[in-house]
Amino acid sequence: MEYPKKSCAADGDQRTNVPTYHRTSCAADRKYRSAIVILADGARADVIGEELAAGRLPNIARYLVRSGSDLPAVTSFPSTTGPAYLPFLTGCFPGTCNVPGIRWFDKTRYDAGWSFDRYRSYVGLESFCMASDMWPHIRTIFELLPDSLSIFNPIARGARGRRNITRVSRIWHWYYAHLTDHWAFTDEAALAKLRRALRKRASFVFCVFPGIDELSHLTHPRHEKTMERYRWLDEAVGAIAGDLIAQGDWENTALFLVSDHGLSATHTHFCVNSFLEKHGLPAFFYPLIFQKKGKLSANMVSGNGMTHVYFKNSDGWSRHTVREELERHAPGILEDLLSHEAVDIVAIRNSEGGADALSRRGRARIRLDGAALHYEVQGSDPFGYNPLPSDLDPDQCLIRTLDSDYPDAPFQIAHLLTSPRAGDMVISATPGFDLRLKYEHPEHRGSHGSLHASHMRVPMLTNVKLSQRPVRTADVFPTILKLLGREIPGHIDGVPLEGRES
Ligand SMILES: [Zn+2]
Repeated sequence: MEYPKKSCAADGDQRTNVPTYHRTSCAADRKYRSAIVILADGARADVIGEELAAGRLPNIARYLVRSGSDLPAVTSFPSTTGPAYLPFLTGCFPGTCNVPGIRWFDKTRYDAGWSFDRYRSYVGLESFCMASDMWPHIRTIFELLPDSLSIFNPIARGARGRRNITRVSRIWHWYYAHLTDHWAFTDEAALAKLRRALRKRASFVFCVFPGIDELSHLTHPRHEKTMERYRWLDEAVGAIAGDLIAQGDWENTALFLVSDHGLSATHTHFCVNSFLEKHGLPAFFYPLIFQKKGKLSANMVSGNGMTHVYFKNSDGWSRHTVREELERHAPGILEDLLSHEAVDIVAIRNSEGGADALSRRGRARIRLDGAALHYEVQGSDPFGYNPLPSDLDPDQCLIRTLDSDYPDAPFQIAHLLTSPRAGDMVISATPGFDLRLKYEHPEHRGSHGSLHASHMRVPMLTNVKLSQRPVRTADVFPTILKLLGREIPGHIDGVPLEGRES
């Protein structure tokens, strides 16, 4: 299998899997002895902002916002649990890691015959495969800081033995909470394990609190049960800060409170499998993976607000199908897809090595050229952006789209499609809809995964004084390494954030 084309400073030698390193001036900045990342899965930036303004998160206000930083931040696409953890743990986007979704289909492997990594769903036991599914040259923070600890995180490559504190119990906790809806129990267990871990003074601790995400799916992103989890999160931050102060570690510990995605309420499920069947392209999909005969497409949903779609072509499954080829074989399919209200954005690979972004608002061509993004609107803009330059660097793309309904979307689409496992076509759902009608138990009433701001904007709070600027979640990884005085791998997507004096 080929390695993907890299988009950012590609100093790492991918052929030999030996990364090289940027030398930074971080040694001079060294102040922190350890770092803790609390990932409040599914926490919305706007909900945290509103609760802070209402004075209902007093500990987060006191320990993070007033004495540290509250930065505008976006996650990576797909904005979904698991793949969207990767930027924090590797500094790389899901596409760069070659883990492009909660579910994916590897056309080349599938075409070659039986292998264990032809397709994947990280829902359940296959979540253990996420770490090994990454490109081997990607380095996790657990590998770079070998005394690190991991709690309720499925991507703990490098956290050996008992340093992956919940290696076995994570699945038990998830099944128990799934069956009982008792996610507060799992949050409490995570906090207890984190408080015990603080006493070990590890260089780095990554801890997932799943309650907000799970209750948002079951109820509503602003349901009282979900809001109670936000207020519990504030108490947890107070307890952690109190422990660090009591043991004299507050001043030398960088504490980050972050999320992997937002969520929106879901009123309608759209069945992409039925749509494909209607166009004569019967789909291979989870959980019916033993039904392979006669399939001409594959549909791999994440979140459930996005999906990767793959098409069989004249060469079988061995290569990607581009837009021009799909339109020859299934005329009108893209127009029909975009006529459904559930479908917001369609990104499809084109014959020029880039992608076409299509919506009812318009269309644009997107192509990565090294770190630069080429963005060519054809007619009107598919995201409704104000006019953008046709060539954008990563900073410009983020800053100029941050306050839109689709922050960072062209950059995120282009990076996702660098993964050979990403779809020939990617669909991003309209908020209010998701892309999985059947086989989802219990039914989802909240969704994420899409390019929409309600899924892409995330909180980024820390007790570290950082320059006020828009950030991506991939920036946390190099920032932590810099704060700890460590070298930063040179092949990553994130950039270290600068400190500020006051
Ligand atoms: Zn999540």
